Amino acid sequence: MPTIVSITARRFQVPLKEVLVDAKHGDHTHFELITATVVLSDGREGTGYTYTGGKGGWAVLAMIEHDFTPFLIGKEVNDIDALYDGMLWHIHYVGRGGIAGFAISAIDIALWDLHGKMLGQPLWKMAGGAAKKAKAYCGGIDLNFPLPKLLDSVRGYLDRGFNGVKIKIGQPELRDDIERIEAIRKLIGPDVAFMVDANYSMEVDQAIEASHAFKPYDLLWFEEPIIPDNYAGYGQIVDATDMPLAMGENLHTLEEFELAFEYSKLSFIQPDASNCGGITGWLRVAELAAAHNIPVCSHGMQELHVGLVAGQPDSGWIEVHSFPIDEYTTRPLIVEDNLAVASDEPGTGVSFNWEKLARVHQN
Ligand SMILES: [Mg+2]
Repeated sequence: MPTIVSITARRFQVPLKEVLVDAKHGDHTHFELITATVVLSDGREGTGYTYTGGKGGWAVLAMIEHDFTPFLIGKEVNDIDALYDGMLWHIHYVGRGGIAGFAISAIDIALWDLHGKMLGQPLWKMAGGAAKKAKAYCGGIDLNFPLPKLLDSVRGYLDRGFNGVKIKIGQPELRDDIERIEAIRKLIGPDVAFMVDANYSMEVDQAIEASHAFKPYDLLWFEEPIIPDNYAGYGQIVDATDMPLAMGENLHTLEEFELAFEYSKLSFIQPDASNCGGITGWLRVAELAAAHNIPVCSHGMQELHVGLVAGQPDSGWIEVHSFPIDEYTTRPLIVEDNLAVASDEPGTGVSFNWEKLARVHQN
């Protein structure tokens, strides 16, 4: 049985075409992509990755290089679950959640890439095999766009073949959010799925008021109205308004997802395999979601999540995120008949265009 002989981690700082703003994270001028390539004693290799909103990537890189690489060198890769649990416990005391979630994700995805290549199976099959295509919506980071530009941006999503759109909300005045929501619904008509995302910028009472005000616009979901740690607060909003809620991008451990399923009365769950423990972590969340009859969606890195979401029997929507990681791979996201199409390539199906990444990388 081959063993791990090296792990090479790299950090890329990738500029965005324009400054993107949401209600809680300030200006995004670039994102960080941290890759981890695992090489086996028989010469085979797999690559995984994670990303950030532009901060924290150096810490993720350091944890991969200094903590997980020495831990994994010499180990066999036939039991990914055991390696995953080993990584969790290796760093649990110092790094549970957060940085560790990102670092473990990058390595775990590399292990699944290897696993798929060994089995000759694409991700959508390894993830359940229910289907090869997934519903997909565009998620804008557009809180700072003046209304005409916001409308243009949403028109662009429809022109690219999507039938779902999401905008950022959390303007200083609720009436401005309502004005934008009303204008978008008028633009897209009744049949396009429409979601809003407050990036936890509200308190429970504000979110209740907003949910009542948003009722006429038939939102598929209201994402992260309040801080994700207030699990019961989500439940209070649902009890008071019946607004369908979604979250998950800020939950990094399975225990956090368990709390969300128990208390938050969510209509959709959005685990992100780049920060909840990679493909192993994502699939564990999907299993919990299935037990609670909640469709599993995703956040970010559309080029990978398309295979994960499509493979699930109760699949929700993939988010086509404004950080275009897929444009730095050899297979940018493919959309046909409003659906995103997963790769048939064995492994994760995500191969980076290293030359393009090296060209845009800034330090
Ligand atoms: Mg979000």
